Amino acid sequence: MTKKDTNRMLADIEMEVEYTRTMIGKNALDPRVMEAMRSVPRDAFVPPELKPFAFDNGPLPIGHGQTISQPYIVALMTDLVQPAPEHTVLEIGTGSGYQTAILSQLVKQVYTMEVVPALAKAARELFGALHYNNIENRIGNGYEGWPEHAPYDGIIVTAAATHIPQPLIEQLKPGGRLIIPVGLPYSHQDLMLLEKNHAGEIHSQNVLGVAFVPLREENPQPDRDQTLH
Ligand code: SAH
Repeated sequence: MTKKDTNRMLADIEMEVEYTRTMIGKNALDPRVMEAMRSVPRDAFVPPELKPFAFDNGPLPIGHGQTISQPYIVALMTDLVQPAPEHTVLEIGTGSGYQTAILSQLVKQVYTMEVVPALAKAARELFGALHYNNIENRIGNGYEGWPEHAPYDGIIVTAAATHIPQPLIEQLKPGGRLIIPVGLPYSHQDLMLLEKNHAGEIHSQNVLGVAFVPLREENPQPDRDQTLH
């Protein structure tokens, strides 16, 4: 990764924030989030043949029919969850692990779940190699969340759900935020922000139209070779 590549990626994110400012309700993202986007090497999270495009502001295929999300969307979702150094955050849809790595720079602990065993395994190896030590990941169906470590200050879902999973609402702390794309698979989806207030009431708002791969409803396929230890 060169400084020039990262500067270009950051400039492209800033430009898209500017274009979408009326929808997202802000002119700029949290400087801490932009700093995390600067420090995590996106090229480490894309397949070798796509490394020349690693700093383009677009999604890229990562195998298994999945994608690494667009940098602007990663930055926006991270900003919306309002990460703080003492926070514990849950991510659904580890994929390449890029969004996870960004979060790990901004909060105390990140838990992340992935339904495709091979992706979960590759991400775990990468977190180790890059010394991101405040991440725990496992194979699992994100619709159920990860109750053992709940409640969470923030939850980010990086695949499109047809409805908001009730377990995720339950696993959110009062004062916590859930960011989730909701809509039909391969069709229009709304990026939604749900806030749970201290009385436990949920307030939701639509932030932006987005296009994510679908959140799968089936449980992970057991595969002895892909078990995480
Ligand atoms: N955050 C990832 C985005 C990957 S795309 C990144 O930046 O690379 C969404 C991911 O969600 C895919 O890897 C997909 O396999 C995973 N996914 C889909 N349905 C899921 C489910 N029910 N539970 C957990 N992960 C799921």
